[in-house]
Formats: sequence, C-alpha cells, structure tokens
Amino acid sequence: MSDNNEPTDTCPECGAPAVNGMNCFEQLGWLIGWEQRDPDLAALHFVTVASYNLQHAAQFQPDVLAQLREAFIAHLDRGLPASEIRRRMGSAYAGSARVLRPESERRPVLRRWPMTIADVYLPDQPDGAADRVRAWAASIRAELEREQ
Ligand SMILES: [Zn+2]
Repeated sequence: MSDNNEPTDTCPECGAPAVNGMNCFEQLGWLIGWEQRDPDLAALHFVTVASYNLQHAAQFQPDVLAQLREAFIAHLDRGLPASEIRRRMGSAYAGSARVLRPESERRPVLRRWPMTIADVYLPDQPDGAADRVRAWAASIRAELEREQ
C-alpha cells in the first residue's frame, strides 16, 4: 500500500491518513472508547465530537453546521457548558430542521488542517489523549478565526 499514489487512504474531506486501515470515523470510535477509562477525556466528549464534525462538515445541513460552530466557539472561548449546548441544540433538532444532508447532496471538499483525528487517535497510546484533543480543538478554533 505504501507505494500507492492514489489518495484512496486519506480522507477526502479532512485529509487525515487511514490508521491501521481505519478511516476517520473508525478512529473517532476508538478515541471515544477510551473515554470509559479516562475521565479527563470523557469530560471533553463534546469537544471531541464537535472537532470531528467541524472537519467533516459536508454531512450537515448548513444551519446545523452554523449552530455547531457557534456552540464550539462559545464553549472554548466562554466556557458555555456542554450540557447547555445539548439543551439548546436539542431543542433546535426537535423542530423542523433535519440535521443531516441526504447522502446525494453531500459535497465533501478537501481542506488541509493543522491537526486531524489521526493526530489525536494514536493506536495503543491512550495516555495524553485529552491533551491532544485540546490541541486539536485549539487548532480548529484558530482556523475558524481566520475565516471570519
Ligand atoms: Zn476525515
């Protein structure tokens, strides 16, 4: 596989390499699995999922994505509690808007990020995962700042 120049084993959206044959979503699944043994990481659950989702934006309806970005920034900058975010976003989802775009309407655009899930989920290295999530989130926050 190493001499394959086709970009088949990198993510078409966030650019992360596959790790041990696992795509981004599978890496996220393993990272979340570590939360059971790592309270520090578990406390960052919203940050972990939001970071992943912001780097895989094509699946979301535009208004949902805008809300997620706003909540992510409010959480990082002002400490808006994740429980409050869930309450607010939950009530929005209970309304009319669908959360996900239909598969046929998704148009992933490759974007280069300073860090991706592949920098955070390091196989068999759960130690320091919470610090890596914080660094990942901070790097995304900085990228969002530059867009504004
Ligand atoms: Zn990805």
